Amino acid sequence: MPCVQCLLPMQPLERAPLQLKDQLKDHTLPVDQIPDHCPVPLSESRKQELIEEITAQLTARDAVLIAHYYVAGEIQDLAEATGGFVSDSLEMARFGKRHNASTLIVAGVRFMGETAKILSPEKRVFMPTLKAECSLDLGCPPDEFEAFCDEHPDRTVVVYANTSARVKARSDWVVTSSVALPIVEHLHARGEKILWAPDRHLGRYIQLKTGADMMLWRGACVVHDEFKTKGLLDLKKLYPEAGVLVHPESPEDVIALADAVGSTSGILKAATELPHNTFIVATDKGMFHKLKQKNPHKRFIEAPTAGDGATCKSCAHCPWMAMNRLQVLADTLASATQMIANEIHVNPEVGQRAMVPLNRMLDFRV
Ligand code: SF4
Repeated sequence: MPCVQCLLPMQPLERAPLQLKDQLKDHTLPVDQIPDHCPVPLSESRKQELIEEITAQLTARDAVLIAHYYVAGEIQDLAEATGGFVSDSLEMARFGKRHNASTLIVAGVRFMGETAKILSPEKRVFMPTLKAECSLDLGCPPDEFEAFCDEHPDRTVVVYANTSARVKARSDWVVTSSVALPIVEHLHARGEKILWAPDRHLGRYIQLKTGADMMLWRGACVVHDEFKTKGLLDLKKLYPEAGVLVHPESPEDVIALADAVGSTSGILKAATELPHNTFIVATDKGMFHKLKQKNPHKRFIEAPTAGDGATCKSCAHCPWMAMNRLQVLADTLASATQMIANEIHVNPEVGQRAMVPLNRMLDFRV
């Protein structure tokens, strides 16, 4: 499996022992707490009307639209067409911080809006809807997490960006999937023992790659947790020439089948640089929009989720990312009441503490 930084083959590492995994509570979100997400498609003429309305509102409000790779393709295109930005959560945060608009509209999930607000407290930050959550964030309640950290004062606390402001404020480092590996390598080289939260699969992947002493919180992404080896192997038989690209929030046995493992940006890079013309991709299907735009002559196939028992709730599209729709965005921007309801607020004292580990990540040079 190549490294997503250099795309050169990596040597397999000795399997590191799991740290107290079985003693920790499982924080995977129960299925009945995952919302339904089957948006009704819009006609082309309605889409165009909404795009024009949103564009006018962005200008009137001195606002810039920042979108994640997992939201609907039309919102990604609109962000780019109006001078905004589409990327992973790390680069979204950087862009929001350096852009001179007074207002940021973050199309993604709530922790992304909070991160933008923490890094740019002087700006107003809004989201199309504050109902757009993340199962990792929901699976890491601050009170429980703080108590857990207090029980392990000898460990450096490293949290994934997919967490609340309070959880970030309790951490020593915040990381995204694009920089988690080199940051943990750096901490491991300094002899630090790590308490990792909340995604257990990403934590396990990094533990195996670095050999670091990591205690893992047991959360999971409801999208990536659904990828299964059997379905992937069956698909691979149909497309033996295909490369397999896997996001490291996926289970360990799915990662083991990958030709490249990486964050959303890492997957984009691998799709462009690897020689395959066909790829099976194990990440949220929102990603396919940018993959196809950047590689129009290559073919991308969705990795199967949940095998034969798949339900609507286990398709590979984040139910909360899917809440970012043109109509919802237009409605929010058009209404003062909706804007107030969907503004991100972060307690300033919590925000100041969270800014420290966030800035450590932004200042870290690979
Ligand atoms: S895809 Fe997974 S990690 Fe990303 S926002 Fe949705 S639930 Fe969270």
